[in-house]
Amino acid sequence: GLGLTGYLAYSIYVLRHPEEQLEPDPSKKTLVILGSGWGAVSLLKKLDTENYNVVVISPRNFFLFTPLLPSCTTGLIEHRSIMEPIRNILRHKKATVKYYEAEATKIDYEKRVVYISDDSEIKGDVSHTVVPFDMLVVGVGAENATFGIPGVREHSCFLKEVGDAQKIRKRIMDCVETAVFKDQTDEEVKRLLHMVVVGGGPTGVEFAGELQDFFEDDLRKWIPEIQDNFHVTLVEALPNILPMFSKQLIEYTESSFKEEKITIRTKTMVKNVTDKYIEAQVTKPDGTTELERIPYGLLVWATGNAVRGVVRDLMEQIPAQKDSRRGLAVNEYLVVNGTENIWAVGDCAITNYAPTAQVAGQEGAFLARLFNTMAKTEAIETELKKLSVAQQEAKGDEERNHVFEEIKERQRQLRRTKQIGPFQYSHQGSLAYIGKERAVADISWLSGNIASGGTMTYLFWRSAYLSMCFSARNRVLVATDWIKAKIFGRDVSR
Ligand code: NAD
Repeated sequence: GLGLTGYLAYSIYVLRHPEEQLEPDPSKKTLVILGSGWGAVSLLKKLDTENYNVVVISPRNFFLFTPLLPSCTTGLIEHRSIMEPIRNILRHKKATVKYYEAEATKIDYEKRVVYISDDSEIKGDVSHTVVPFDMLVVGVGAENATFGIPGVREHSCFLKEVGDAQKIRKRIMDCVETAVFKDQTDEEVKRLLHMVVVGGGPTGVEFAGELQDFFEDDLRKWIPEIQDNFHVTLVEALPNILPMFSKQLIEYTESSFKEEKITIRTKTMVKNVTDKYIEAQVTKPDGTTELERIPYGLLVWATGNAVRGVVRDLMEQIPAQKDSRRGLAVNEYLVVNGTENIWAVGDCAITNYAPTAQVAGQEGAFLARLFNTMAKTEAIETELKKLSVAQQEAKGDEERNHVFEEIKERQRQLRRTKQIGPFQYSHQGSLAYIGKERAVADISWLSGNIASGGTMTYLFWRSAYLSMCFSARNRVLVATDWIKAKIFGRDVSR
């Protein structure tokens, strides 16, 4: 055949020249999908869009490959390498999908409409409108938990969106450049170079590792003045970090952090945040507690998820959601309990699984299969209804027999259309980068309980993430960023 070059040329041609799309059809049901994250996008990828009038609404017109977001905070990866425009995804669907760049502000369950608003920079004001739906998928994710702790929103950086990573990247360089400014007290220099991460879950751990790498690989070489004072501290309220990993991996991570000179402060619960220090309640080995002030230059807040306002509001409209706290309670088909034709995927849905990208992705793919099957089944049933009328009206044995055969064929088709069983999550393992070219992986499905850390795991981590990347384009960009950083170092401009 054509060989690799031919294949590549063909792939690029198809990418650049997708086929003409079918136009929306008013006789079809309107399926509204809220969100453009892991849940919504995996649904879109597998959905046969010709069966519905599909409308996607999200304030973010791209999919973000979040596992590599911590790498964007240090410039190891440029943020655009892990963004995939929603338009790229939609352009390759068989039927046209409408996309509105807007935020869903309210879902009215009774009226079956979504209120959306677009905060447009060009218009300089906010446009509001309503979108009616027959079927709705809520995949809006979650927001950052602050537990109402004073000062968190004002003074810390989160790590959820592209903008957060950019803010951290600027802030790191601001701290560094400010610390080396002329004539400052030792104390102030130390404060500016103290990088504090709150939350010892995977987000906090991965960020701390990336930041220490940045210091070791690049910062200390470019700006040697900071080397005695630059310091990363990870603060965690519980007795240990990474509670979702096995004991062995926790110990591996802790000893690796020690080697990397990242300080872990467990049993330290942050209670208050000001612009220059955090106040934390520290539990001493003898069980007594003490309030401690910890000065910081950069504060990254990674204490997990909280329910979004639009989701909470929907929960309040539905009596069956009364006892749910952390998000929309769903049944085993991801239908929002107490509703009809409303589904939820990802971090806004509460299932038995942790709120991870892997879970959201599988939930989205499940819904796509479900909707594709539903459409197929419905189409056959409509045919069958028509045929049964035709059978009654048929004149003569020959025609009747013919219609009868047709009915039998359709019934066979209906049986063959696979009924979809309930959603079942298949855990592929947990993976976290911990700095110094090391990663921890919990891949229990392989054989019993394999837990591994170290350089091989790191290579595995890199290739796993690379293969999980959304598109070939993303893969090329990320690989190029890694090579670029290896050769030239990270870009330390602000
Ligand atoms: P998390 O909920 O997993 O961890 C937050 C941590 O913050 C907890 O350990 C909690 O005890 C601590 N905390 C809360 N309040 C505190 C306070 N006031 N002071 C000190 N510590 C406090 O959050 P995450 O790391 O953002 O992860 C969110 C979800 O995403 C999880 O399900 C996680 O598994 C998943 N995730 C996975 C990966 C990966 O697999 N590599 C990476 C990122 C996130």
